[in-house]
Amino acid sequence: MKAMVLHSTGNIDSRPLKYEDIPIPEISDGEVLIKVHACGVCRSQLHTIEGEWGAPMRLPLVVGHEIAGEVVKTGRRVSNLKIGDRVGLQPTYNTCNSCEYCLTGRENLCDRIERTGGHVDGGYAEYVKGVEQHTYLIPGNLSYQKAAPLFCPGATAYRAVCMAEPAPYKTMAVFGVGGVGHMAVQFARLHGARTVAVDRSKKKLELAERFGAVPVEYGDTEKLARLGIDDSIVFAPSDEVIAMARNATKKGGRIVIGVEGNVLDFDFRKEQRIMGCLVGTRNDVNNVLKLASEGRIGAEVAEYRLEEANEVLAKMKKGELVGRAVLVP
Ligand SMILES: [Zn+2]
Ligand SMILES: [Zn+2]
Repeated sequence: MKAMVLHSTGNIDSRPLKYEDIPIPEISDGEVLIKVHACGVCRSQLHTIEGEWGAPMRLPLVVGHEIAGEVVKTGRRVSNLKIGDRVGLQPTYNTCNSCEYCLTGRENLCDRIERTGGHVDGGYAEYVKGVEQHTYLIPGNLSYQKAAPLFCPGATAYRAVCMAEPAPYKTMAVFGVGGVGHMAVQFARLHGARTVAVDRSKKKLELAERFGAVPVEYGDTEKLARLGIDDSIVFAPSDEVIAMARNATKKGGRIVIGVEGNVLDFDFRKEQRIMGCLVGTRNDVNNVLKLASEGRIGAEVAEYRLEEANEVLAKMKKGELVGRAVLVP
């Protein structure tokens, strides 16, 4: 099969992903083989490829963890999925089912978690394997391209917004309205919160405005103060943005951070609550799929060919992507 393979980490401009033929993954008991129809391009892959998060778990590696496709083969002891099913995978590839996190519905924090595109090869390829218990049926009215981003940005945004506890009488700010942020804006609006979108890019702010957000240009702290931000969500990977969000948020507010960054000069006097948000749980993913199939939220997607992955990631790095890019093999 064709895949975009990472052999060694390097700057994305040096095109570190190579378009190659590699063997189709072999499935074990409880696993299914999926023909990939779309795979979202996530910023976390940029960090892995450029070695920013340390050495990848293994090399060569196929990254990609928001995947939509079709079951083409089932392993033994697969009972609920069959050939032809339209399915998706999220960043969590497998969990232990027995640690305190798994037993309390927080399997995204599992002590023995395995990650798609980390422990096992991911979706920048024609085929990928999935574990039945972490493979999701895609509702019939959602295309593969629209469904793929629901598994990472969709579920992560959903989780972050729930953590920030929006309400119709509150104002919530989303800092960074890229792939995840543009979905967070939609979930905040669903909860009835007045939603404020903060970004550098005019195009991204226009998109957020279409989803009902009040646009604020990056750095316009006066406007943020006027709006009165109860709670904030940060999806822009920058210490500066985290600081801006904390300064803009009222005393007693919540700041949910879903990206790498440092919280500097913490002021206990404000009684703010700072929370991290990793990826969605199974429950989050299922809720997001349901909301999307009802037409209440949706990912804004742009399609690219699989072999364009390097260029797409380079665009993402420069902040030039609006919504979510998906690779189609
Ligand atoms: Zn992702
Ligand atoms: Zn576990």
